[in-house]
Parts: sequence; C-alpha cells; structure tokens
Amino acid sequence: MPNLADMTEAMAAVQKAHGQHIPKGLLAYKASDIAIFADETQWQQAFRFIYDIVFKPSNQFKEEAGAFIDGVLGFVTPVFSHEKRKIYLSPKVQGYTRRQQLMVLSHEYLHWLSHESFYPTYYMVGGQHPFQVEGATQWLTVACGYQQEFKTLPAYQDEYLKTDAWLKADTRNLARMQAYLFNGVRTDLSSIHP
Ligand SMILES: [Zn+2]
Repeated sequence: MPNLADMTEAMAAVQKAHGQHIPKGLLAYKASDIAIFADETQWQQAFRFIYDIVFKPSNQFKEEAGAFIDGVLGFVTPVFSHEKRKIYLSPKVQGYTRRQQLMVLSHEYLHWLSHESFYPTYYMVGGQHPFQVEGATQWLTVACGYQQEFKTLPAYQDEYLKTDAWLKADTRNLARMQAYLFNGVRTDLSSIHP
C-alpha cells in the first residue's frame, strides 16, 4: 500500500511541473493533511456516500455504487474548503506498480489542488463536464512525467486524447486550462467533447 512518503513524492512531481500556477497557500499542506489511505471498510463507506450525492448524478450513471467501487482507485471529497478537502485512496491501488501508484496519487492531488470553481462546481454541473474535468486533470498528470505509466495504466484515455487535441489547436489553451483548474479563471472547455 502506498504511504505518506509516496504521497509526498507524488505531490512534489505535480509541484515541479505546475508549481508556478498553484496558489501559494496550498503549497503549505502536507501529505498527512490531505491523504487518507482507506481500509476496505472506510473506502466502502466514503465512496458510497460521495457516489450517491456527486458521481452518480454528475455522470448520469444508472448503476449503483457497487458497480464502480472496485474500479475507482481514488477520489477527492467535493468540498470548497481546502482545509476540509481530502484525498481518499482505495486499498485496491496497491495492486499496481509503484510508479503507477504515484501517477494515481498525482492525479488525485491535482483534483485536490483544483479551484472550487473547477472542482467540484464545474464537475457537478454534469453533462460533459466530468469528461472535461478528468481530461484536463489526466493531461496535467501525465505532464508530470508519467508518459510511460500512462501507456500501461491508460485511465481516462479518451478524455486525455480529446484534451490533447484541444490543447494542440491553440497554443494559448494550456495557459487557459491551467488558469481555470488552479485559479478558477473560467474558460470554455465545451469543445473538448466526447
Ligand atoms: Zn480524476
């Protein structure tokens, strides 16, 4: 199972790649402040609760939480306050290589860093927005140096590819996407379409 030292390493990778866009106050939070490595009971309880109030309606899923509970490796609690926001990691994450685990941890840390206008607000509008949020988050994750791991654990591949195409369409789009995710400066992501 990954531990707080792994979380710290995954956070450092994100800070190295995107540090200039991260609000200074958020850099003070340590791994122990934000990461919860859940056991199976904690994971079941936390995931089922958040699934019903956020993931199911936002994604317009018809299935119940049980259909996803073993496939999801982590999530960030959808609260505005970073002080109260937590990263939950599933015990299932230990089934992956250490580098793949770090990629998952960096992805979740990017959700944790997200401005509340981006996550949870924009995500919870629903429709295509979960697609656009995951595409932006996974693209910024892979940019931290996880190109190799992404080939072997291709989570959110469709979202990633559509985001990549959008970024390549205009060189200014990367700065727009970073400003939205990290600082809440809204930009139109509707052309990142599934
Ligand atoms: Zn995600």
